[in-house]
Amino acid sequence: MSLQQAITDFRGQFRGVVLEPGDAQYDESRKVYNGMIDRRPALIAKCAGVADVMAAVRMAHANGLAVSIRGGGHNAAGLGVCDDGLVIDLSAINYVRVDPTERTVLVGAGCKWSDVDHATHAFGLAVPSGIIASTGVGGLTLGGGMGHLSRKYGLTIDNLLSVDMVLADGSFVVANADENPDLFWAVRGGGGNFGIVTSFLFEAHPVSMVCAGPMLWNLEDAADVMKWYREFITQAPEEMNGFFAVLGVPPGPPFPEELHLRTMCGIVWCYQGSIEQANAILEPIRCYRPPAFEFFAPMPFPMLQGMFDPIYPSGLQWYWKADFFKELSDAAIEKHLEHAAKLPTWQSTMHLYPVNGKVNRVGEADTAFSYRDVVWSEVIVGVDADPSNAGRITDWARSYYNDLHPFGAGGAYMNFMMEEGEDRIRATYRGNYARLAAIKAKYDPTNFFHVNQNIKPAG
Ligand SMILES: Cc1cc2nc3c(=O)[nH]c(=O)nc-3n(C[C@H](O)[C@H](O)[C@H](O)COP(=O)(O)OP(=O)(O)OC[C@H]3O[C@@H](n4cnc5c(N)ncnc54)[C@H](O)[C@@H]3O)c2cc1C
Repeated sequence: MSLQQAITDFRGQFRGVVLEPGDAQYDESRKVYNGMIDRRPALIAKCAGVADVMAAVRMAHANGLAVSIRGGGHNAAGLGVCDDGLVIDLSAINYVRVDPTERTVLVGAGCKWSDVDHATHAFGLAVPSGIIASTGVGGLTLGGGMGHLSRKYGLTIDNLLSVDMVLADGSFVVANADENPDLFWAVRGGGGNFGIVTSFLFEAHPVSMVCAGPMLWNLEDAADVMKWYREFITQAPEEMNGFFAVLGVPPGPPFPEELHLRTMCGIVWCYQGSIEQANAILEPIRCYRPPAFEFFAPMPFPMLQGMFDPIYPSGLQWYWKADFFKELSDAAIEKHLEHAAKLPTWQSTMHLYPVNGKVNRVGEADTAFSYRDVVWSEVIVGVDADPSNAGRITDWARSYYNDLHPFGAGGAYMNFMMEEGEDRIRATYRGNYARLAAIKAKYDPTNFFHVNQNIKPAG
């Protein structure tokens, strides 16, 4: 049967939308969040439900098509889309059901975190996720998931209770602590290597109002602030999260005009408690190095989650580099300052996310996510709207990374990486790699799911 005939048959059994080159929505649907990525799949299957996912997997198998899995489309390396293959687009599988009694949340694989935050907030609950609400639940969760609530409640995967999945042969399974526990272990950090998750069941926590927002300092204060911060964040109560950033000040409110586009450093706080307690905890830094500007106030948790979305609309050019760190030495701080001073565009940034507290209390072999012994996950992103600046932002991110990498712990958060090859993936999973490769061999022996940070089947 010709591919065209197979596509005609596939359309007949598929409930969602099937797009081919030339179809009106094709070009819009192949775009992903990172504007640097420009790939042309043979087919895009926008699945309406699990039955469509099973049909799409079987169709790709029968016709030898590579498959990419698209959740929110935010992946750094644009792994939600592929050239010449089939994009299994989950965005229409978009539902959230909160069980306030059990404090669990069932989430369809096409949801973004804004969908989850909106639904859970009505019940005074939240699921630990990242710092940007437009990110997809699928990719973020399967890679680990770090954000404002990590110190207190762990990574997103530490709050995952069960998944529904479609495997490489098109069959459906449930994976959790009791059913297919090896698969459940692997998907908690192993990414999209093992199958297509069609729904996630999470534990939620009582988080409603938080005291949150950024404090900014001039670069002259950055060394002192970083030295203070490295001590503070390893001792602070776990209700207090603060990620450190090198950043360009956005050119709009609430930032005062005289700071617009200035390169500064900052800490974005999120405290689960009263404003009086928060102010007492933050008094030392306000006295030691008073911020040049701050926007720190009580707010609903979803407001914090959505705070940075307007700064980073879809379609910008992004180049990513990442590492994990156990410490922040004086020598490393010097390097940070050197590269901060060369920030190429105001949207480019470096973040140090604390991944200590509860994250460190999970064993490194308890889930696929192995780096449980570090304090920070660093991401360096060169970002700009103008494609002609792609070289400049890439060079800056690479050179920043090259200078900081020798201070790192070895691997990096796989969700903050471009396509960097097998050595980097092995370095990221360390001692867990061999077990992941064996589970891959069991559930996906032909490496059908390979458009990802790929773990090759053992043997
Ligand atoms: C602006 C921005 C901010 C970010 N902030 C954070 C943050 O604070 N914390 C954090 O942890 N991460 C953060 N990330 C990284 C984010 O976790 C990754 O980009 C993640 O891949 C996004 O998930 P997605 O579903 O949108 O990705 P997509 O591009 O849709 O998918 C990426 C890959 O994930 C896998 N995948 C996705 N869904 C499924 C599924 N249902 N079943 C199987 N495999 C699947 C596939 O391998 C796919 O190729 C951020 C990214 C961006 C762009």
